[in-house]
Amino acid sequence: MLRIYDTRTRQAEPVPVPPGRVVKMYTCGPTVYRFAHVGNLRSYLLSDLIRRVMERHGARMVVCQNITDVGHLVDDAEIGEDKIVMQARAEGRSTLDIARFYEDAFRRDTAALNLRPPEHTPRATETIDLMIELIAKLVEKGHAYAVPDGSVFFSAQSFPSYGEISGNRLEDLKPGHRVEGADPRKRFHADWALWKHSHRELVWETPWGTGFPGWHIECSAMSLEYLGDRIDVHTGGIDLRFPHHEDERAQSDSAAGHEVVTRWVHGEHLLFDGRKMAKSTGNVVLLSDVADQGLDPLAVRLAFLEHRYRQQMNLTWDTLRAADRTLRRWRQRVAEWAESPSAPLSQEHVRRAEAAFDDDLDTPTALRVLRELERDESVPPGSRFETFLHLDHVLGLDLSSDIGKVKVLPPGAAELLERRARARQAREWAESDRLRDELAAMGVKVADTPEGQVWT
Ligand code: AMP
Ligand code: ZN
Repeated sequence: MLRIYDTRTRQAEPVPVPPGRVVKMYTCGPTVYRFAHVGNLRSYLLSDLIRRVMERHGARMVVCQNITDVGHLVDDAEIGEDKIVMQARAEGRSTLDIARFYEDAFRRDTAALNLRPPEHTPRATETIDLMIELIAKLVEKGHAYAVPDGSVFFSAQSFPSYGEISGNRLEDLKPGHRVEGADPRKRFHADWALWKHSHRELVWETPWGTGFPGWHIECSAMSLEYLGDRIDVHTGGIDLRFPHHEDERAQSDSAAGHEVVTRWVHGEHLLFDGRKMAKSTGNVVLLSDVADQGLDPLAVRLAFLEHRYRQQMNLTWDTLRAADRTLRRWRQRVAEWAESPSAPLSQEHVRRAEAAFDDDLDTPTALRVLRELERDESVPPGSRFETFLHLDHVLGLDLSSDIGKVKVLPPGAAELLERRARARQAREWAESDRLRDELAAMGVKVADTPEGQVWT
């Protein structure tokens, strides 16, 4: 069974597969006003890994990942400008144009990283009715209040367990913590807007007045609609813990009358060359930049897997190039092993790697098992082949992509390669050199790497 660290309970918790097998997961999706950088993509890999591990355990995953195309304001402050509206003005295009353009780019990037598409990808602008309905319900239940200008606020004090995810309890929140701290329309300084009165672009009519939704209510409305009021896992980047997820939890739980999300899971930030990857600091690498360097986009995925999702991780061009080399070598080896007689999985390696996946997604350990297996000449090549492909269902590295693409070895060469590998393990250097010459005569060039011999 997968055990994963729950930010709210502050410990690793089991994620069981229920008798009906359906497991529901919500992932806070992108704000589509710019290209996602690889830091953003690391957050979505977390959700993909949970899906793949749970599917291994027989779960039928239903994942909802929203598209935020309205309501996310600059700096997360409630009086900033809408990110999409701002970008539309900067590029001289319509908001719809901007949102759809970057949504398409996001889909391409996530596909290139082998992130499985979510079952539901609702857009905020197309689910405004759900938000209005939810806000009305919260007002009716006394959790929210409308003010004369046509805005609606959530009453933070109506939700006593506020702060359980991040530890930011209401009594510790100082007035003015948020830019809107001094907003005279609010009854309490930590209340937040569910609906914002406005006559700008991209607004809707409501019973309270013209305006647009707050970012937090979007996720509550879409998750409750597409997954219902029992959600097994909710993921996002670590910066979303507060206020986004605290506010979302307060809204959803107040509407449902019970705890909606069982496990809150957060991925740590990506640094690049030692600094947090963020557009605001100009420290951004896109997946297209990686491809422009001649590297496989999946080298990014492999580089991420070398670290646990809960560790901050520093990426550099050197680590990406190293990951790219490993990826190419593994694909070539898998293609080589595919030429050998088939053999059963190496159960021992599978068990260790899968135990690592289950242990709060310990992917670095799983990759170490793979490296060990790669070098282990006592395991038949056919078995290494099966085991690599089996584990690749979770790793998602397309390790079988070179099969049939590589030149097929001339008859007898595979056996000579195996004999040479064994000779090297037995430190019989003269025999190993003799076999290399014999292979060279057949047109097969062998190079020795720390992970074993590689032929071309
Ligand atoms: P956004 O599109 O800005 O709403 O962000 C999308 C996701 O990326 C959110 O889950 C963020 O928490 C996450 N995120 C932003 N910056 C980073 C970073 N440097 N490393 C990892 N995740 C990040
Ligand atoms: Zn969200």
